[in-house]
Amino acid sequence: MKVYSHERLERLAAERGMPAEYLHELRVVSSVLPFKVNQYVVDELVDWSAVPDDPIFRLTFPHRDMLPPDMFETLSALHLAAASPGVIRKAARAAHALLNPNPGAQVDANVPVHEGSPLAGVQHKYAETVLVFPSQGQTCHSYCGYCFRWSQFVGNADIRQAAGDVSRVVSYLAASPSVTDVLFTGGDPMIMSATVLDRWVTPLLAPELEHVRTIRFGTKALSYWPARFTTDQDADDMLRLFDRIVAGGRHVAVMAHFSHVRELEHPEVGEAIRRIRATGAVIRAQAPVIAHVNDRAEDWSAMWQRLVELGVVPYYMFVERDTGARNYFGVPLTRALQIYTDSVRGVSGLARSARGPVMSAAPGKVLIDAVTDIGGTEVFSLRLLQARDARQVGRQFFAHHDPAAEWFDDLRPALGSWWPR
Ligand code: SF4
Repeated sequence: MKVYSHERLERLAAERGMPAEYLHELRVVSSVLPFKVNQYVVDELVDWSAVPDDPIFRLTFPHRDMLPPDMFETLSALHLAAASPGVIRKAARAAHALLNPNPGAQVDANVPVHEGSPLAGVQHKYAETVLVFPSQGQTCHSYCGYCFRWSQFVGNADIRQAAGDVSRVVSYLAASPSVTDVLFTGGDPMIMSATVLDRWVTPLLAPELEHVRTIRFGTKALSYWPARFTTDQDADDMLRLFDRIVAGGRHVAVMAHFSHVRELEHPEVGEAIRRIRATGAVIRAQAPVIAHVNDRAEDWSAMWQRLVELGVVPYYMFVERDTGARNYFGVPLTRALQIYTDSVRGVSGLARSARGPVMSAAPGKVLIDAVTDIGGTEVFSLRLLQARDARQVGRQFFAHHDPAAEWFDDLRPALGSWWPR
């Protein structure tokens, strides 16, 4: 798999005819945020005749507006003055801290303490589900410009989450009988070889972890590198691992990240989906709604329809999180709701299984149900689909309707409503 990042990415953009001004912007933005594109994305997904407005180009290549203007200017001046790599790195570190690297209190509130010390690389926010970040899986086949896990990829150990020891994870799970689901995430766990992933998964199939019923894999490999499940050297081994989990009576859930219907068009994706489904695994699809990439209802309708035809379950339409390049990709909540409503209108009931728009906020997963008028006050009607405090699951609450609001923290309680904490 040929990949482009840093100077190689700049060379690639130059070869594809991007102007000098863009190459400078690419250099500046990619010195702060991570970018990596592989040959499959370059050759099969980006429509170069439509660049720069092509949605996959916008998804995977830098744009100057991904950084706040003053941050861009600071870094730009350093590059123009040919500052040393060390000086640029130091400025980038300072910038990282300003871009909310771990949103939703992920590190402060989600990392459990086990046997007296924090369990690094593990998050336990909801009673039933534990997230594991294997240290070998903290990269992806390509990067999304809007990634809310960007801090995993910038080489900054202070903000990176990574688990190095499966035995501590097993010990924690054995002591946590409420956990039914373990989600391997990252990065992308499918970046690991089947042998390495096996080392993380097999210990979870032990009889003392009988309460762990579902093994989930969060991945964008079906979009960015479908060969992972077809022609990669160990593609068959990966599928045999799925087979083995299913044969052991557990559920394999592939949480596939699809941003745009274009990602489903290549025949290899269909073949990869067919092979995964043949193991008994179920693929569910999710993505945030983001400006410049998929902020049109017709794209979501087309994607959900195609997913259903391929046997994939539409699962979530998320709201872009308040981190990283959020300034560029963010969509106001009112607009996200309109896109969701128009999208479900365009498909049959089978494709309406996707819930949204949903914010993965600090208290839990907040569904924006409607904008409505109650006694002369226009409000967002909101509901907790999932909550850090399980007693709050399903609770409805109201916020003043602010058409410019893009995230949970922008909202204020309305009508004396209860508010999740
Ligand atoms: S595939 Fe997922 S983890 Fe990787 S860059 Fe994209 S959003 Fe981030």
